[in-house]
Amino acid sequence: MENYVASMVLSAVGDALGYYNGKWEFQQSGPAIHKELAEMGGLGNLSIQGWKVSDDTVMHLATAEALVAAGKNPSLEHLYSLIAKNYKECMNDMKGRAPGTMCKENALKLDPGRPDGWRIPFSPRAGGCGAWAGAGAPPPAWGKGLLEVLPRAKAYVQDTGFFVKENMGQWHYFEEQWEKYLAERGISDGVSPPTFPPKYGVEERDLFYPSLSYDGWGGSSGHDAPMIAYDALLGAGDSWAELAHRAFFHGGDSDSTAAIAAGWGGAVHGFRGGSASLYTHLEYRDRLEQVAKDLYRIT
Ligand code: MG
Repeated sequence: MENYVASMVLSAVGDALGYYNGKWEFQQSGPAIHKELAEMGGLGNLSIQGWKVSDDTVMHLATAEALVAAGKNPSLEHLYSLIAKNYKECMNDMKGRAPGTMCKENALKLDPGRPDGWRIPFSPRAGGCGAWAGAGAPPPAWGKGLLEVLPRAKAYVQDTGFFVKENMGQWHYFEEQWEKYLAERGISDGVSPPTFPPKYGVEERDLFYPSLSYDGWGGSSGHDAPMIAYDALLGAGDSWAELAHRAFFHGGDSDSTAAIAAGWGGAVHGFRGGSASLYTHLEYRDRLEQVAKDLYRIT
């Protein structure tokens, strides 16, 4: 249970840090963030009192609470309608949290009271970011595991009969980007340890992350947000500080990559290393802990 709680709570801590009330999410220079962080006394001396969580945590909570409300073994339609209900409602809690325009527009199109009202039309411009969970396997195996599960996701999308042609027309991009990334780190086989460039500091990462992105803003799309978070997790081992430096403080969509990486870090390593001083003032801490315990009970 500790890992469930650590995953939810640390994800929100990461989000609040990467976001810094909008200041760091939209700061395009990783070195500038690191400089400011050092001037504030470094990660170990930060207090996040007054630091809001961003849209990422609000939607993480909305998703987790829908999963709990759906209970054990729900039908997918029931689960989707509960998620849609929470996503629509949580848009009322977005003030000062910088939700994406596309995400906001799409959430407001949801009509969860209607059968199939959880569906919205395909958009070639919608790329929103998010993540999957690695569940049990060591992190270097997750990438290969993702590629192995993709054919099942593809078959599911084809089975729905809903905007199949449009989805299939875009499908290759996600897969190709991930194949390329895994090859670059030498972990396509899911067994080898990851390899990083000999010099891979703040500046080098600030060049590499956008190179993974769709439009130059690393971490803002569905393929590169988990990729950057994964890159950080692979490189950080069990060090919370290193995970934070790599995933939270860079010149891209830093709150999303932070929320994902910190959530994974908590799931894999528990609270080890995450500093307690950071989460005593965390917004929504009670809600995060409660839903994590509820999730543990139903899984
Ligand atoms: Mg955000």
